[in-house]
Amino acid sequence: MIELYGITTCIHCKMAKSLLMKGGRPLREIWLDTLTPEKQEATLARLKELVGPRIGFPVVIEDGRVISIGFKEGELRRSLGLEDEAERLKEVLAKAQEPLGYFFNPDPVVVHELLSGLLENRRRYGYMACPCRLATGDRERDADIICPCRYREADVQEYGRCYCGLYVNEAWKMGKLPTREVPERRPQG
Ligand code: SF4
Repeated sequence: MIELYGITTCIHCKMAKSLLMKGGRPLREIWLDTLTPEKQEATLARLKELVGPRIGFPVVIEDGRVISIGFKEGELRRSLGLEDEAERLKEVLAKAQEPLGYFFNPDPVVVHELLSGLLENRRRYGYMACPCRLATGDRERDADIICPCRYREADVQEYGRCYCGLYVNEAWKMGKLPTREVPERRPQG
Protein backbone atom coordinates (compact mmCIF):
# COMPACT_ATOMS: atom_id res chain seq x y z
CA MET A 1 0.00 0.00 0.00
CA ILE A 2 1.28 3.42 -0.92
CA GLU A 3 0.28 6.47 1.10
CA LEU A 4 0.43 9.98 -0.24
CA TYR A 5 0.40 12.83 2.28
CA GLY A 6 -0.28 16.14 0.62
CA ILE A 7 -2.06 19.47 0.53
CA THR A 8 -4.85 19.90 -2.00
CA THR A 9 -3.54 23.27 -3.21
CA CYS A 10 0.04 22.05 -3.70
CA ILE A 11 0.99 21.50 -7.34
CA HIS A 12 3.82 19.13 -6.39
CA CYS A 13 1.39 17.01 -4.42
CA LYS A 14 -0.92 16.83 -7.44
CA MET A 15 1.98 15.87 -9.69
CA ALA A 16 3.00 13.13 -7.27
CA LYS A 17 -0.57 11.85 -7.26
CA SER A 18 -0.66 11.67 -11.09
CA LEU A 19 2.57 9.72 -11.07
CA LEU A 20 1.46 7.37 -8.32
CA MET A 21 -1.81 6.67 -10.10
CA LYS A 22 0.14 5.75 -13.19
CA GLY A 23 2.03 3.17 -11.13
CA GLY A 24 -1.28 1.32 -10.74
CA ARG A 25 -0.63 0.33 -7.11
CA PRO A 26 -3.24 0.72 -4.34
CA LEU A 27 -3.03 4.31 -3.18
CA ARG A 28 -4.27 5.93 0.01
CA GLU A 29 -4.46 9.70 -0.19
CA ILE A 30 -4.31 11.84 2.94
CA TRP A 31 -4.90 15.53 2.25
CA LEU A 32 -3.91 17.33 5.39
CA ASP A 33 -5.83 20.54 4.71
CA THR A 34 -9.10 18.61 4.56
CA LEU A 35 -8.67 16.91 7.95
CA THR A 36 -10.20 18.05 11.22
CA PRO A 37 -7.70 19.89 13.48
CA GLU A 38 -7.40 16.81 15.73
CA LYS A 39 -6.75 14.43 12.84
CA GLN A 40 -4.38 16.88 11.24
CA GLU A 41 -2.36 17.12 14.44
CA ALA A 42 -2.21 13.34 14.84
CA THR A 43 -1.17 12.91 11.20
CA LEU A 44 1.56 15.54 11.50
CA ALA A 45 2.85 13.85 14.64
CA ARG A 46 3.08 10.53 12.78
CA LEU A 47 4.86 12.18 9.86
CA LYS A 48 7.33 13.94 12.15
CA GLU A 49 8.25 10.58 13.66
CA LEU A 50 8.99 9.25 10.20
CA VAL A 51 10.67 12.20 8.48
CA GLY A 52 11.79 14.52 11.27
CA PRO A 53 10.57 18.00 12.20
CA ARG A 54 10.88 19.61 8.75
CA ILE A 55 8.17 18.11 6.62
CA GLY A 56 8.11 18.99 2.92
CA PHE A 57 5.06 17.90 0.93
CA PRO A 58 4.24 15.57 -0.63
CA VAL A 59 5.42 12.70 1.53
CA VAL A 60 5.12 9.25 0.00
CA ILE A 61 5.24 6.16 2.16
CA GLU A 62 5.24 2.57 1.01
CA ASP A 63 4.44 -0.13 3.55
CA GLY A 64 5.55 2.13 6.40
CA ARG A 65 8.82 3.16 4.67
CA VAL A 66 9.31 6.75 3.47
CA ILE A 67 10.20 6.65 -0.23
CA SER A 68 9.99 10.34 -1.10
CA ILE A 69 9.77 13.72 0.61
CA GLY A 70 8.93 16.68 -1.58
CA PHE A 71 8.34 15.98 -5.25
CA LYS A 72 11.47 14.30 -6.54
CA GLU A 73 10.26 12.80 -9.75
CA GLY A 74 13.27 10.63 -10.59
CA GLU A 75 13.46 9.21 -7.09
CA LEU A 76 9.76 8.45 -7.07
CA ARG A 77 9.85 6.80 -10.48
CA ARG A 78 12.79 4.64 -9.43
CA SER A 79 11.04 3.59 -6.24
CA LEU A 80 7.91 2.69 -8.19
CA GLY A 81 9.80 0.86 -10.92
CA LEU A 82 8.55 3.40 -13.49
CA GLU A 83 11.93 4.39 -14.83
CA ASP A 84 11.94 3.69 -18.51
CA GLU A 85 13.02 4.73 -21.98
CA ALA A 86 10.90 7.89 -21.87
CA GLU A 87 12.65 9.01 -18.70
CA ARG A 88 16.05 8.50 -20.23
CA LEU A 89 14.98 10.49 -23.29
CA LYS A 90 13.69 13.23 -21.02
CA GLU A 91 17.07 13.61 -19.35
CA VAL A 92 18.90 13.83 -22.68
CA LEU A 93 16.44 16.34 -24.17
CA ALA A 94 16.34 18.49 -21.04
CA LYS A 95 20.11 18.95 -21.21
CA ALA A 96 19.91 20.09 -24.83
CA GLN A 97 16.72 22.18 -24.70
CA GLU A 98 16.75 23.96 -21.35
CA PRO A 99 19.78 26.13 -22.19
CA LEU A 100 17.78 27.26 -25.25
CA GLY A 101 14.86 28.37 -23.07
CA TYR A 102 12.60 25.37 -23.74
CA PHE A 103 11.43 23.53 -20.63
CA PHE A 104 9.29 20.48 -20.21
CA ASN A 105 5.69 20.90 -19.17
CA PRO A 106 5.59 20.79 -15.35
CA ASP A 107 3.05 17.94 -15.46
CA PRO A 108 5.20 14.77 -15.47
CA VAL A 109 2.37 12.60 -16.72
CA VAL A 110 1.80 14.80 -19.79
CA VAL A 111 5.53 14.76 -20.52
CA HIS A 112 5.80 11.03 -20.08
CA GLU A 113 2.86 10.35 -22.41
CA LEU A 114 4.19 12.68 -25.10
CA LEU A 115 7.72 11.29 -24.91
CA SER A 116 6.31 7.76 -25.13
CA GLY A 117 4.45 8.91 -28.26
CA LEU A 118 7.66 10.26 -29.76
CA LEU A 119 9.43 6.98 -29.06
CA GLU A 120 6.57 5.03 -30.60
CA ASN A 121 6.80 7.15 -33.75
CA ARG A 122 10.53 6.59 -33.88
CA ARG A 123 9.90 2.84 -33.79
CA ARG A 124 7.26 3.17 -36.52
CA TYR A 125 8.90 5.62 -38.89
CA GLY A 126 12.53 5.87 -37.88
CA TYR A 127 12.17 9.48 -36.71
CA MET A 128 10.38 11.23 -33.86
CA ALA A 129 7.32 12.64 -35.56
CA CYS A 130 5.12 14.90 -33.42
CA PRO A 131 2.85 12.70 -31.31
CA CYS A 132 -0.11 15.09 -31.79
CA ARG A 133 -0.08 15.09 -35.58
CA LEU A 134 -0.72 12.55 -38.29
CA ALA A 135 2.59 11.48 -39.81
CA THR A 136 2.91 9.93 -43.26
CA GLY A 137 6.00 7.81 -42.67
CA ASP A 138 7.78 9.81 -45.40
CA ARG A 139 10.60 11.70 -43.68
CA GLU A 140 10.69 14.46 -46.28
CA ARG A 141 6.96 15.15 -46.11
CA ASP A 142 7.08 15.04 -42.31
CA ALA A 143 10.25 17.12 -41.98
CA ASP A 144 8.33 20.05 -40.47
CA ILE A 145 6.82 17.92 -37.69
CA ILE A 146 9.91 16.08 -36.53
CA CYS A 147 10.28 17.09 -32.90
CA PRO A 148 11.08 19.82 -32.12
CA CYS A 149 8.83 20.86 -34.98
CA ARG A 150 9.22 23.92 -37.18
CA TYR A 151 6.30 25.58 -35.37
CA ARG A 152 7.59 25.28 -31.83
CA GLU A 153 9.44 28.57 -31.70
CA ALA A 154 6.45 30.66 -32.82
CA ASP A 155 4.01 28.75 -30.61
CA VAL A 156 6.16 29.04 -27.51
CA GLN A 157 6.73 32.72 -28.20
CA GLU A 158 3.01 33.48 -28.66
CA TYR A 159 1.33 30.98 -26.32
CA GLY A 160 4.08 29.94 -23.93
CA ARG A 161 3.91 26.32 -25.07
CA CYS A 162 4.18 24.17 -28.16
CA TYR A 163 1.16 22.69 -29.93
CA CYS A 164 1.33 19.43 -27.92
CA GLY A 165 2.27 21.10 -24.68
CA LEU A 166 5.51 19.16 -24.34
CA TYR A 167 7.72 22.26 -24.36
CA VAL A 168 6.92 25.46 -22.49
CA ASN A 169 8.77 28.67 -21.76
CA GLU A 170 9.79 29.78 -18.29
CA ALA A 171 6.79 32.09 -17.80
CA TRP A 172 4.33 29.29 -18.63
CA LYS A 173 6.22 26.88 -16.41
CA MET A 174 5.94 29.32 -13.51
CA GLY A 175 2.18 29.66 -14.05
CA LYS A 176 2.49 33.29 -15.20
CA LEU A 177 0.70 32.72 -18.51
CA PRO A 178 -2.87 31.54 -19.08
CA THR A 179 -3.35 28.14 -20.69
CA ARG A 180 -4.76 28.89 -24.12
CA GLU A 181 -5.42 26.46 -26.91
CA VAL A 182 -2.60 26.55 -29.42
CA PRO A 183 -4.01 26.60 -32.95
CA GLU A 184 -2.42 24.37 -35.60
CA ARG A 185 0.07 26.38 -37.66
CA ARG A 186 0.91 23.55 -40.01
CA PRO A 187 -0.56 24.18 -43.46
CA GLN A 188 -3.26 21.62 -44.19
CA GLY A 189 -3.33 19.45 -47.30
S1 SF4 B 1 4.30 20.35 -31.03
FE1 SF4 B 1 5.75 20.02 -29.36
S2 SF4 B 1 5.86 17.79 -29.15
FE2 SF4 B 1 4.95 18.21 -31.15
S3 SF4 B 1 6.72 18.20 -32.51
FE3 SF4 B 1 6.35 20.31 -31.91
S4 SF4 B 1 7.73 20.60 -30.21
FE4 SF4 B 1 7.52 18.40 -30.46
